[in-house]
Amino acid sequence: MRVVQKFGGSSVADAASIKRVAQRIVDTKARGAEVVVVISAMGDTTDELMDLALQVSPQPRPRELDMLLTAGERMSAALLAMAINDLAFEARSFTGSQAGVITTGTHGDARIIDITPGRIETALEDGDIVIVAGFQGVSQTSKDITTLGRGASDTTAVALAAALGADYCEIYSDVDGVFTADPRIVPGATRIPEISYEEMLEMAAQGAKILHLRCVEYARRENVPVHVRSSFSTKPGTWVKDIEVKEGSGMEQPLITGVAHDRSESKITVVGVPDRVGAAAEVFSAVADAGVNIDMIVQNQSIANDNTAITFTLPGGDKVKALDALHGARERIGFAEILYDDAIGKVSVIGVGMRSHPGVSATFFRALAETGINIQMISTSEIRISVVVGADDVDAAVRAAHTAFGLDSVSGEAVVYAGTGR
Ligand code: ASP
Ligand code: MG
Repeated sequence: MRVVQKFGGSSVADAASIKRVAQRIVDTKARGAEVVVVISAMGDTTDELMDLALQVSPQPRPRELDMLLTAGERMSAALLAMAINDLAFEARSFTGSQAGVITTGTHGDARIIDITPGRIETALEDGDIVIVAGFQGVSQTSKDITTLGRGASDTTAVALAAALGADYCEIYSDVDGVFTADPRIVPGATRIPEISYEEMLEMAAQGAKILHLRCVEYARRENVPVHVRSSFSTKPGTWVKDIEVKEGSGMEQPLITGVAHDRSESKITVVGVPDRVGAAAEVFSAVADAGVNIDMIVQNQSIANDNTAITFTLPGGDKVKALDALHGARERIGFAEILYDDAIGKVSVIGVGMRSHPGVSATFFRALAETGINIQMISTSEIRISVVVGADDVDAAVRAAHTAFGLDSVSGEAVVYAGTGR
């Protein structure tokens, strides 16, 4: 049996928690498993290092930022190995680079290209517990240290589990698994015992922070079963895996599996776009050339004046890039004006059950209407319906949807054990 266990920052926030996690790892090892641990930086260390960098320099070079941020995971990895050693077990810590995590060269958002886990295999053969610093690797070309994006220790863990042929990957955090909504907003949210990769991908993409999006993509591609659970309890969590629903198996699909929300996006409306061939292509080429990834798009059919409005959402942090690009292209495209709004949020209902059931949109929109919430934009996929609402309406919209689809727990409240949710 070979297991990869990942512990998030709130599980190793201080010395006492590091010792507690060490005990938990040792228990797994004592049951006879080969154990590889991926660790995040302690508590809010990454945010604090980032704040510090910005105090020293308003625009730190990405290479130096990665050198700085990776130190957080290196600290917790070494401390954890020490704590395990004191429990009379052998443990060795490795940086991402030492562990063979080879990445692209994009600092702050590198992708894993390959994993060459030779040193890990050797350490496992020696009977050691292996501790790997998460969220980091080494660039194949420049040999510089890279980071994989915020929250990416999850991705390190799943990638290692795949490369090492682990039986499964356990992701330990501060809640008991994946819930039908964020328990911080919906106290009656319920734990989802099992969820398909497909639904988990949508949940993560639509703002559920419990698992890093690329971690789920990786797990699905490599077929790694992921057990999301709490390091503060021994309760079973959520298994993210390949779930095959057999026709006629009598298995009841819930209509909606979960409700996700995302406050990080903002909205741009380009007003008075001429109604001619190629106008939309020009608007979005300008935005794409600025390196901005957009999400939802709405364009109305032009009714009067031979022009229309195009509205789209984008990451809030890309405001300046996107607005500059559009203003620069204004003459060429010939639109009238640009409106920007960051006081918005996106609320999504997700479930494979909606494939075969009509009326899901109607139920969702009626629940919002009865709560007095105005819908600004709508988008759908085969297993998801998302709406954009005002930022102040997000919590109420999540609760309304959760209740409308019968997801409220009857058996008590979800527990959030730790973490600042920062
Ligand atoms: N420490 C990094 C972060 O805060 C990576 C992680 O926790 O997964 O984003
Ligand atoms: Mg995380």
